Formats: sequence, C-alpha cells, structure tokens
Amino acid sequence: MTGMVDVMVVGGGINGVGIARDAVGRGLSVCLCERDDLAAHTSSASTKLIHGGLRYLEQYEFALVGKALAEREVLLKLAPHVIWPLRFVLPHESHLRPAWMIRLGLFLYDHLGRRRSLPGSRRIRLEGNPLGAPLKPQFHTGFVYSDAWVQDARLAVLNAMDAAARGAEILPRTRCVAAVRSAGHWQVTLADAAGRERTLTARALVNATGPWAVRFLDEIAHVPHTHTLRLVKGSHIVVRRLFEHDHAYIFQQPDRRIVFAIPYEHDYTLIGTTDVDYHGDPAQVHIDAEETAYLCAAVNRYFRRAIAPADVVWSYSGVRPLLDDHQQNASEVTRDYRLELDTDGAPLLNVFGGKLTTYRRLGEEALDLLANVLPTRGGAWTSDPAQPLPGGERDPNALADAWRAQRPWLTASLAWRLAHQYGTRGERILGEAGSLDALGIAFGAELYQAEVDYLREHEWAQTAEDILWRRSKLGLHVTPADAARLAAYLADTQSAAAGTA
Ligand SMILES: Cc1cc2nc3c(=O)[nH]c(=O)nc-3n(C[C@H](O)[C@H](O)[C@H](O)COP(=O)(O)OP(=O)(O)OC[C@H]3O[C@@H](n4cnc5c(N)ncnc54)[C@H](O)[C@@H]3O)c2cc1C
Repeated sequence: MTGMVDVMVVGGGINGVGIARDAVGRGLSVCLCERDDLAAHTSSASTKLIHGGLRYLEQYEFALVGKALAEREVLLKLAPHVIWPLRFVLPHESHLRPAWMIRLGLFLYDHLGRRRSLPGSRRIRLEGNPLGAPLKPQFHTGFVYSDAWVQDARLAVLNAMDAAARGAEILPRTRCVAAVRSAGHWQVTLADAAGRERTLTARALVNATGPWAVRFLDEIAHVPHTHTLRLVKGSHIVVRRLFEHDHAYIFQQPDRRIVFAIPYEHDYTLIGTTDVDYHGDPAQVHIDAEETAYLCAAVNRYFRRAIAPADVVWSYSGVRPLLDDHQQNASEVTRDYRLELDTDGAPLLNVFGGKLTTYRRLGEEALDLLANVLPTRGGAWTSDPAQPLPGGERDPNALADAWRAQRPWLTASLAWRLAHQYGTRGERILGEAGSLDALGIAFGAELYQAEVDYLREHEWAQTAEDILWRRSKLGLHVTPADAARLAAYLADTQSAAAGTA
C-alpha cells in the first residue's frame, strides 16, 4: 500500500475492525493500526453475549434493545461458527421482580427484534427439571428465553481477516503516535513494536480506540472537544463446571444487578460481571478481591454447591467505554453508542461507546456518515448473508460431522473445536493430513503445529498468549509446560512468521 489512504482506522477492537471491513467493501482504501494484538482489550473481555440485554428494558432503552435483537438475527447468519444460540434460565424471585413484570419484559424481548430463528420464552417449573437440579430448593419456577453466545476476540479477528482479504492493510502491534490535521488530509505517524516509525496520509481518520477515545483526542490528535467517557470496569471469574446442561443462568441480585453463570469451554462455568467505576490505565485493569467475593456470593445465592475465591481458575477484566449520561449507578449508564463526524478540517470520525452486539450496525452507520465526505462505491452491504465472515459459509455442526466422515482419525472434540473456531477455514488446518501425527508437533489439549502455523500465517498471532487466550481459549486446558513449549516454538520459528493473511 502507498503512503496515502482514504481511511485510517486507529484501534483494532471490534468497532475498529468492523468499520475497516465495511469501508473497504465500499471501495475505500483502508489502513487499520492496533497498538497491541487485535481485540487485546475490551473486545476480548466481554461476557460474550450477542444479546438485546433484557435488563436494559427496565431502563426504557427500547430502541437499543430492539436494534441489538435485530442484529442478533443478522450475526447468527454471518458467523454461525463463532456465534450460536444460547438459552437462559431466570429463576423467579417474586420479592425482586414480580412475575407479571418478567412476563412483560420477556414478551417485549421476544417481539422487539424480528426474532425468526430462535425459540421464544416460556415459564418452567424448576422442581424435577434438570434445569432446576443445580439450584437451591426454594426456587420453584423460572423462565427460559433465547439469546446468543459469541467468541468475542474471534469475531474481531474474522472481521480483520475479511477486511484484509478485500484489500485493507491491517497492522497489529502498531501504535498511532501522532495525527496532524490539515484542511485536506491527516498526516498520521505509526510506530511498530520495535519503535520503527512510518508516516502516511489519510483523507479521513477514525478514532475507534474504545476506552482511549478521549485520551486519543487530547494526546495524539490534539483536537479540542468537550467529550467525556465513563470508564466502567467489568470482571469475570471462571470455575470448574457447576452444572451439566447446556443452558446459562441469569441471576437477579438484591442490588438489582444481574449476574450470568454460563457453560464455558465444556469443563467450566463463566460467572460475570461487575460494574465498577474505573480511573486507571485501561491496559492494566485487573479483578480485585471485592469483585471476586461479589461474584461468588452472587451465584452462591442460587446454586446448591457453594464456591469460594479459591475455586477460581481464571479471571479477566475489561473496561467499558460508556457514554456518560450522568447516571449515579455504573450499571445503569447507557450501553448505546454515539458516532460523531467532525469536519472542522480533514474528517475525523469518533466512536464513543457501543457493544459487541451492535458493532456491525455501528460500522454501517459510520460509513453512511463517511460517505458524505469520501468517494464511496455502493451502500450498506455487511448484513448480506451471502457475505459471511471468513469460515461462516456452513453450519459448524454439519461441518464437524462431514470432517469426521472423511477423516476417521479425527477426534470428535477436535472436529467440534476446529469447526467452531474456524468454520470452513478449518480445512486449511486439516489439509491433506491422514492422521493426528501428520498435524505436526502436539502442544497439548489437541493443539497441533498445523493450527499454530495457520494462526500465525492468517490471523496475525505472534505469541503464546495470542493463541491460548484470544484466538482460542486453550489456555484453560493446556499445562504450563505445554504453554512454555508453544512459546519456545514460536520464538524459534519467528523468522518464518512475517506473513499475515
Ligand atoms: C465486562 C464487559 C462485558 C461486556 N459484555 C458484553 C456482551 O456480553 N455483549 C456485548 O455486546 N458487549 C459487551 N461488552 C461491550 C463490548 O465488549 C465493548 O463495547 C466493545 O468490545 C468495545 O470495542 P471497541 O472496539 O470500542 O474497544 P476495544 O476493544 O478496547 O478496542 C480499542 C482498541 O484501540 C487500541 N488503541 C488505543 N489507542 C491506540 C493507539 N494510539 N494506536 C493504536 N491502537 C490504539 C487499543 O489497544 C484497543 O485494542 C462488554 C464489555 C465489558 C467490559
């Protein structure tokens, strides 16, 4: 790519990559830089739900919930390998919310978003029901409703891969260190991990830096503004599996918040989240003891089997970049986003807030705005099911079955995982291999060299952490010795790792 682009996107979280993909599909030349790994921050630290957000109905956020529910249907078609339906059980507690209120909320939830593929909600008896078995005996009835699960970091990487395949330049581990505006263009300076600088000229700049969005304006673009973001930390804990079935739970709390307990990575339960105002560096966010205790207590109110902080095998935290609507309570701050096109000189598009669920809509609206100032070709295109994300062309369960029929040596667990991480792209990992041994070095937990090499060549993975905690969650399943062997392999073969998608 030359030193001149139509759009320079800063930030490789879900919103940045979604905008880059939409822009390149509308005929614009695009460069995206991300100072760390793709989705290294908020976009890999979510609860991993593609959802309308049942609780936002209580805050009268009907437009946001409707928009998000409509997106659920769109995204299930575009990426069935990394997004799939998930049913939720809500045990009823009349002193927290009366049954009529829950029924009304679920009625709206079923009908606000043009639900087509997912089953509607219903009331259930918990006694004698496998869904009630892990719960304390005082919970007699509950409700079941639909939402969807997403592998958040993979969704971001797939958008980046598709943008790259359409011609965008994607630069992970590259920080935007300066952006100087003139009447007609932006002069942008990028620095790679080794500190090497490169300057390019862009017609328009997109600030998709999530929790850094205001800092970016102040310290890098030096643009006067009046924006504030409310940074709200959210943490999750992971414990050994607390129940056998495939439904998730949504637990109401006495402080009126809700906490999810979700089946995770087959052997685990994911519990989250918290809402804590945050004033530190978003890159250094960690769970604290109070949050761990809160999450343990939140599920101990419901499950027969109590957990304690010592049961936590992994935790992660992220910072929500929320629009500051001056709510007192952090959990009540709006989850909606705002796009702002500043044309006081070369165009600057700022992204404030947003959810994973609405990233595609946000990208579409961003490009509709940029189309006023840039020579785009064609209009909105990313909701077209004929343009799925890489690997999303087939149902992953059918794909796993087909692979096993063709390759009797392939284990059911590996076929399932590859189909749900890579979809049809998994063929590139399996290739012509005629046995597990032919997939190369085994790094534990059915991670083989063929997959590692694929991730490095096509998905910008460079470190063991990229592979074990973002491209996959195999970090939960491998031993420390396996992880060290993987790191050594990556370091030894670094010279062969220059290629990307
Ligand atoms: C605890 C929690 C739970 C959530 N759960 C859900 C959920 O279940 N469903 C849902 O839909 N949403 C959820 N969200 C919201 C969702 O995760 C975020 O809204 C979304 O990930 C924000 O993406 P982003 O691209 O704006 O920000 P980020 O993912 O943070 O990306 C911004 C990127 O910009 C980069 N950057 C910053 N400055 C520079 C620079 N100078 N140069 C280069 N790069 C730079 C950063 O490194 C960062 O990677 C949750 C959020 C949290 C915190």
